Parts: sequence; C-alpha cells; structure tokens
Amino acid sequence: MIEIDGSEGEGGGQVVRNSCALSLVTGRPFRITNVRGGRSKPGLMRQHVTAVEAATRIGGAEVSGAAVGSATLEFRPGAVQPGEYRFAVGTAGSTGLVLQTVLMPLALADRPSRLVLEGGTHNMLAPPFDFIERTFLPVINRMGPKVEARLVRHGFYPRGGGRIEVDITPAPLAPLECIDSGELAGGSAQVLFTGLPFEIAERMIARLRKELPEWPEDAFVVRELPADQGPGVILMIEARKAHVTEIASGFGQLGVPAERLAKTAASRLKGYVASQAFAGPYLADQLVLPFALASSGAFTTVKPTGHLITAVELAQRFLGKPIILEQEPCGRHLVRF
Ligand code: ATP
Repeated sequence: MIEIDGSEGEGGGQVVRNSCALSLVTGRPFRITNVRGGRSKPGLMRQHVTAVEAATRIGGAEVSGAAVGSATLEFRPGAVQPGEYRFAVGTAGSTGLVLQTVLMPLALADRPSRLVLEGGTHNMLAPPFDFIERTFLPVINRMGPKVEARLVRHGFYPRGGGRIEVDITPAPLAPLECIDSGELAGGSAQVLFTGLPFEIAERMIARLRKELPEWPEDAFVVRELPADQGPGVILMIEARKAHVTEIASGFGQLGVPAERLAKTAASRLKGYVASQAFAGPYLADQLVLPFALASSGAFTTVKPTGHLITAVELAQRFLGKPIILEQEPCGRHLVRF
C-alpha cells in the first residue's frame, strides 16, 4: 500500500487523478490522507469523485472514501477492462480531467476503448478541449497509442452539458526525446462565446491584435456558439511550432476585464515561444504520466511548476525509478525519465 499525504507538494486534485492512473497501470494499491490538503476547501469535490469513480469502473477497483468532502481515499486496483464507457461529471466539472485519469490505463490495455465524457469542455483551471486535441494528444499519438478526441458539444461552467467522445487504440508507450519545439510555423487566436454580449469577444480580439501585431488579420477569429451551450466565453491563442502546438487560454470571469484576460494569455504565449522549450507549463505536468510509464525519454519545459514537481514525485513513488529535473544553460528545464 503506497501511503500518500495529499497536502504535500501542490496538494490538489492532480494527486488523486495521477494516483488512480498509476495504480491501475502498476497494480499497486494506495491510500491518500489529507486529500487536497493544500486547498482552501480540502477533501474530494464532485469532479474528483467522478474521476475516481471512472478509474474504479475501468479498473475493477475496490475503493473507500470516494465521496464529496472525503479527506481519505483508499484504492485497490483490479484488472483494467477496456470497452465502451460513459462518464458524466455533474456541476460542469471538467471532462478533460476525467480523461487524464483513465487515458493511460486504457491506452496500455489489450483492446480498444470508446469513451463518452459529459460535463464541462472549457473549464477554468483545467485543459480546454482544444488543448487536449491539439497540444496533448499529438504527443501521446507519437508515443504509440492512437487516441482521437471529438468535441460534440461545448460545455461551460456553470451550465455544463458538454460532450466529448474519445477513441483509444492501445499500444506500448515508446520513449520520446522532446527537446526542441522547432520553428514557429503559424499562430491563431480564437474567441468562443455564447449567451454574452458580442462586444466582450470584440474587446478580447482587439486587445489580442494589439499584443500580437505581427500576426495576420485572418489569424483572429470570433465564433458564436448556439445559445443553449452558454453562457460562457473563452479565448485560446495557439502557437504552432514544428514539433508541438501550444495553446494559452483565458477563461471569461465575472469582474475580470476582457482586455486583461487577452493580455495575460498573449504574454504567456509570447513567453513560451521565446523560451525554445518543448512543453508549456500545463503540458509539462500532463506529460509526466505517459513519459514516466514509457520508462525513458525526456522533454524540456519553460519553468517547473508545483504541478510538475508533484507529478514527478508521485510517479517516482509508484514506479520506483528516478526522474531527473535540471536547468539547461539556456534557461529552459529538462525532465529526463
Ligand atoms: P484542485 O481544485 O485541487 O486544484 P483540480 O483537480 O481542479 O484540483 P489541479 O490539481 O490544479 O486541479 O490540476 C489541474 C490540471 O489542469 C493540471 O494538469 C493542469 O496542467 C491542467 N490545466 C489547468 N489550466 C490549464 C490550461 N489553461 N490549459 C491546459 N491545461 C490546464
């Protein structure tokens, strides 16, 4: 039984999701105490419970403490059963975070799977669908498994109601060397909105144009979604480099000016492009699981986040193999597995 103090390191939901995934792949049971102990409202929240339930179902696991508010979680994995599954995250919780939990066990299974995930598709503090599709999954597909995700319907907080479908054809994970991101091949900026004044989207685009003056006019797009998919607004700025695509997002929030969201997202993307690193800060923590399970390989990233360090420490505990994090002379960081 691996004992984990859920308040250590980043101390959030990622520890719960990654532990479930690592447990299902390695067959090692775990107990987390002080679940999400680093958060102001600790314990499992609805979306974490859904993630644990999804892991339990695909992995025939025995679980105790998988309830909203629970501070202790015990998980004993069974055999992973690929197949067709539907998981609905109530309260517009992120479908992407449920996918994070079950993807690796299913990508390493002995038969294909099809998932239907319902809930939020563009949630704050979670990977938006576009990021999963164009930033994260292309790396996984290069490692061997074939994973195809489709967005059927958008879901924003608080209404939810989004739907994504994912087809997974398993294969062993081959190690990758993701060191250089390559030349910048193009960029685009998209504002998706529904149920809100058009003016908000226009202000975002105007500010993005100002922040990215060298980008062509047609790189900026506003898309209005059907009213029943809202209200909500998200902006996503994409840098396509030769070997990887990075997407920086800004999620509409009451009280946060459209211009400020646009400026912050643009400066994040510019920082990433200037760094020459392969992975942006979010992709980096999400790549730890597949790279650790591939047993070797490496990627570079901008600057290690708390999420990255916590994911590295957790993977080392389950897999018993050191993962090395070091700064290169050019400033970017290397994570070697
Ligand atoms: P908690 O409420 O405890 O913070 P959580 O489960 O909502 O828990 P985290 O543990 O903070 O969330 O994990 C969030 C995950 O979402 C991380 O893997 C992070 O990389 C990813 N993520 C957050 N924001 C973005 C974004 N804008 N783009 C891509 N990925 C993101």
